Amino acid sequence: MQPPEPQYEDAKPSPSSVQRKPPPGWVIGPDGKPCKICTAFRNWPRNVKASKVAVPASDSPGPAPATVAGAAAVALTQTDTTPLRSDNCPPDVEVLGRATWTFLHTTAAYYPEKPTPTQRANMLSLIRALPMLYPCSHCASDFDERVKEHPPNVSGRLGLSKWLCERHNEVNEKLGKEKFSCAIGNLDERWKDGPSDGSCD
Ligand SMILES: Cc1cc2nc3c(=O)[nH]c(=O)nc-3n(C[C@H](O)[C@H](O)[C@H](O)COP(=O)(O)OP(=O)(O)OC[C@H]3O[C@@H](n4cnc5c(N)ncnc54)[C@H](O)[C@@H]3O)c2cc1C
Repeated sequence: MQPPEPQYEDAKPSPSSVQRKPPPGWVIGPDGKPCKICTAFRNWPRNVKASKVAVPASDSPGPAPATVAGAAAVALTQTDTTPLRSDNCPPDVEVLGRATWTFLHTTAAYYPEKPTPTQRANMLSLIRALPMLYPCSHCASDFDERVKEHPPNVSGRLGLSKWLCERHNEVNEKLGKEKFSCAIGNLDERWKDGPSDGSCD
């Protein structure tokens, strides 16, 4: 069964007359709407209630609203926070990210030590296409900048694995996660060989 889309229970006021203020954790997409593929599913609301909130005129006392004086604002309240995720749900930013990193690191782990010019060109195309096609727009534009700052090393699997690990670590850092060791032994254990205790064999 598909997870339900969020329901906005308001009179659908025109976007120009209201300020939609999503709860923390939601990401607004390029179209100005809450963006599912840019947001972690655990932050994605179900059974959302939207209610109009009066905004005081600019010369009124009280907190200054970041909107046109007298306009209506819409407060969105999540009424159901129970985790709901089946394997058939569309991906959120985390599921997509995990799957993409898995693909990229595994592809790097199996990339030839001495790639042919065609293999190098193909790998370059793959990396450069990613920010143009990746559906999480803010992830894509960030990654694009990083790739421009650090041109991909497609000279062989060691260089590529390390380059990719460093780019992934930049995202980890941005998200407040721990850095991963980019030593080739560590990368091969995670993405190719598995641990020496045989637990993944
Ligand atoms: C190109 C790209 C850009 C992204 N940008 C954003 C963004 O801007 N904002 C956002 O919220 N999310 C972004 N994501 C998603 C984010 O990076 C994570 O994938 C997501 O948060 C899920 O994280 P996770 O903790 O499950 O592990 P992931 O970060 O998905 O990592 C998966 C596994 O890879 C291994 N690993 C971790 N770090 C490294 C590394 N440096 N090298 C090798 N292996 C490693 C670990 O074993 C980990 O469990 C992006 C994803 C991609 C592919």
